[in-house]
Amino acid sequence: MSELQKALDYANQNRERFLNALIEVLKIPSISTDAAFNNDVQRTAEWMADHLKGLGMENVEVMPTEGGHPVVYADYIKKPGAPTVLVYGHYDVQPADPLELWETGPFEPQVRGDLLFGRGSSDMKGQVLATFSAIESVMKSGAPDGVPVNLKFLLEGEEEIGSKNLEPFIKKHAEKFKADVSLNPDAGMMDIDQPTITYGLRGLAYLEINVWGPKADLHSGLYGGAVHNPAQALAELIAKMHDEKGRITLPGFYDSVRLLSEQERADFARLPNDDASYLEGTGVPALWGEEGYTSAERTGARPTLEVNGLLSGWTGPGSKTVLPAKAMAKISCRLVPDQTPAEVESQMVRFMEENAPKTIHWDVKKLTGSPFAIADLNNPGVKAMHEAMETVWGTRPFYRREGGSIGAVAMLQQICGVESVLVGTGLPSDNVHSPNEHLHLPTWYKGIDAFIHFFYNLG
Ligand SMILES: [Zn+2]
Repeated sequence: MSELQKALDYANQNRERFLNALIEVLKIPSISTDAAFNNDVQRTAEWMADHLKGLGMENVEVMPTEGGHPVVYADYIKKPGAPTVLVYGHYDVQPADPLELWETGPFEPQVRGDLLFGRGSSDMKGQVLATFSAIESVMKSGAPDGVPVNLKFLLEGEEEIGSKNLEPFIKKHAEKFKADVSLNPDAGMMDIDQPTITYGLRGLAYLEINVWGPKADLHSGLYGGAVHNPAQALAELIAKMHDEKGRITLPGFYDSVRLLSEQERADFARLPNDDASYLEGTGVPALWGEEGYTSAERTGARPTLEVNGLLSGWTGPGSKTVLPAKAMAKISCRLVPDQTPAEVESQMVRFMEENAPKTIHWDVKKLTGSPFAIADLNNPGVKAMHEAMETVWGTRPFYRREGGSIGAVAMLQQICGVESVLVGTGLPSDNVHSPNEHLHLPTWYKGIDAFIHFFYNLG
């Protein structure tokens, strides 16, 4: 019998124990946003560390961050020359409110049919434990030299509050987290029989534009017609930021945008979220966007510019005949490889220099930004996961790029040069961040098998 088969058999025979371990850790309310739960967050970090020690992992440490919740580190480096996988996870959870909408206590996990209910069951203690269970199956099923790859772990306790302290932490310990690929099971699948590899996330450049004209609000009867209204000037500028084909007109905006390959476009076309589903899901009368691309491509692989907020003049009840002194817009761009937040900020400044009328003053402020992340489809980690999922589910996995950002993924790519393979057994119907969060156990067991295959494929 092959080592792989022994590991799969071990996983199959130990399902109940794996499930019990998950139930145990789900009982600890590791709510990172609420200081009242700080002890529980710490306890969960220690639980993770103890579990990793039990698996035979080495150099296990609960490492403090600068003023935040700790990071759990461990490694198992026994195979010179073999790839090193950095397992990413977060052990913190969202608050459980509103409590009255839970059918059973959020921290009293309960199995009902195929589902395990509890806060963190899907996002993402369940995913972390699927990885641990796969590693245990490989380590303890009698393979003479343990796992076929080298392993490192980075388990953070602040993902649900924006990974605030993670960036300086990773910068400080950049050497420690170097790896060939990161396995990040926090991304989930599109549906029960649709195993999914998420290989790209967009970045963000968030700006605020202020425009002002007269030194104070003016009477629109006395001055309207002689003074350029800042609200109108700003609206004219915003209208110019897209052309009639839905393309963004900031100078040089598309210069560093990587084009989609034929294969990527074919993969986008296979995704179940087609234009009709966007139409239905949003309730808009018609879709809009950059000409020549589908909605899935526009939201995953093309850059965008959105007005997130507008403020000017009188917005209270009734009427006030004001010619406002100023106007403000919050504008953010979602970025794709190889755009950077800094270059988009300077493109916006140039756009304003070239287009703002002489009748107003203006400035552009950068509020926040985050880089894109993408894994090369030829990354051996992506290929190993593709084969693993295909073997377990009997179907070619879906490839998607997501519109939002996940802090740790971009940080690991920017700081340590590590690309992430984003997967997971979470389903869109799991109620993550909501009452009655649950995990679909048959899919979870398949995930454990897939991770076992992944480690063997890569090693
Ligand atoms: Zn998560």
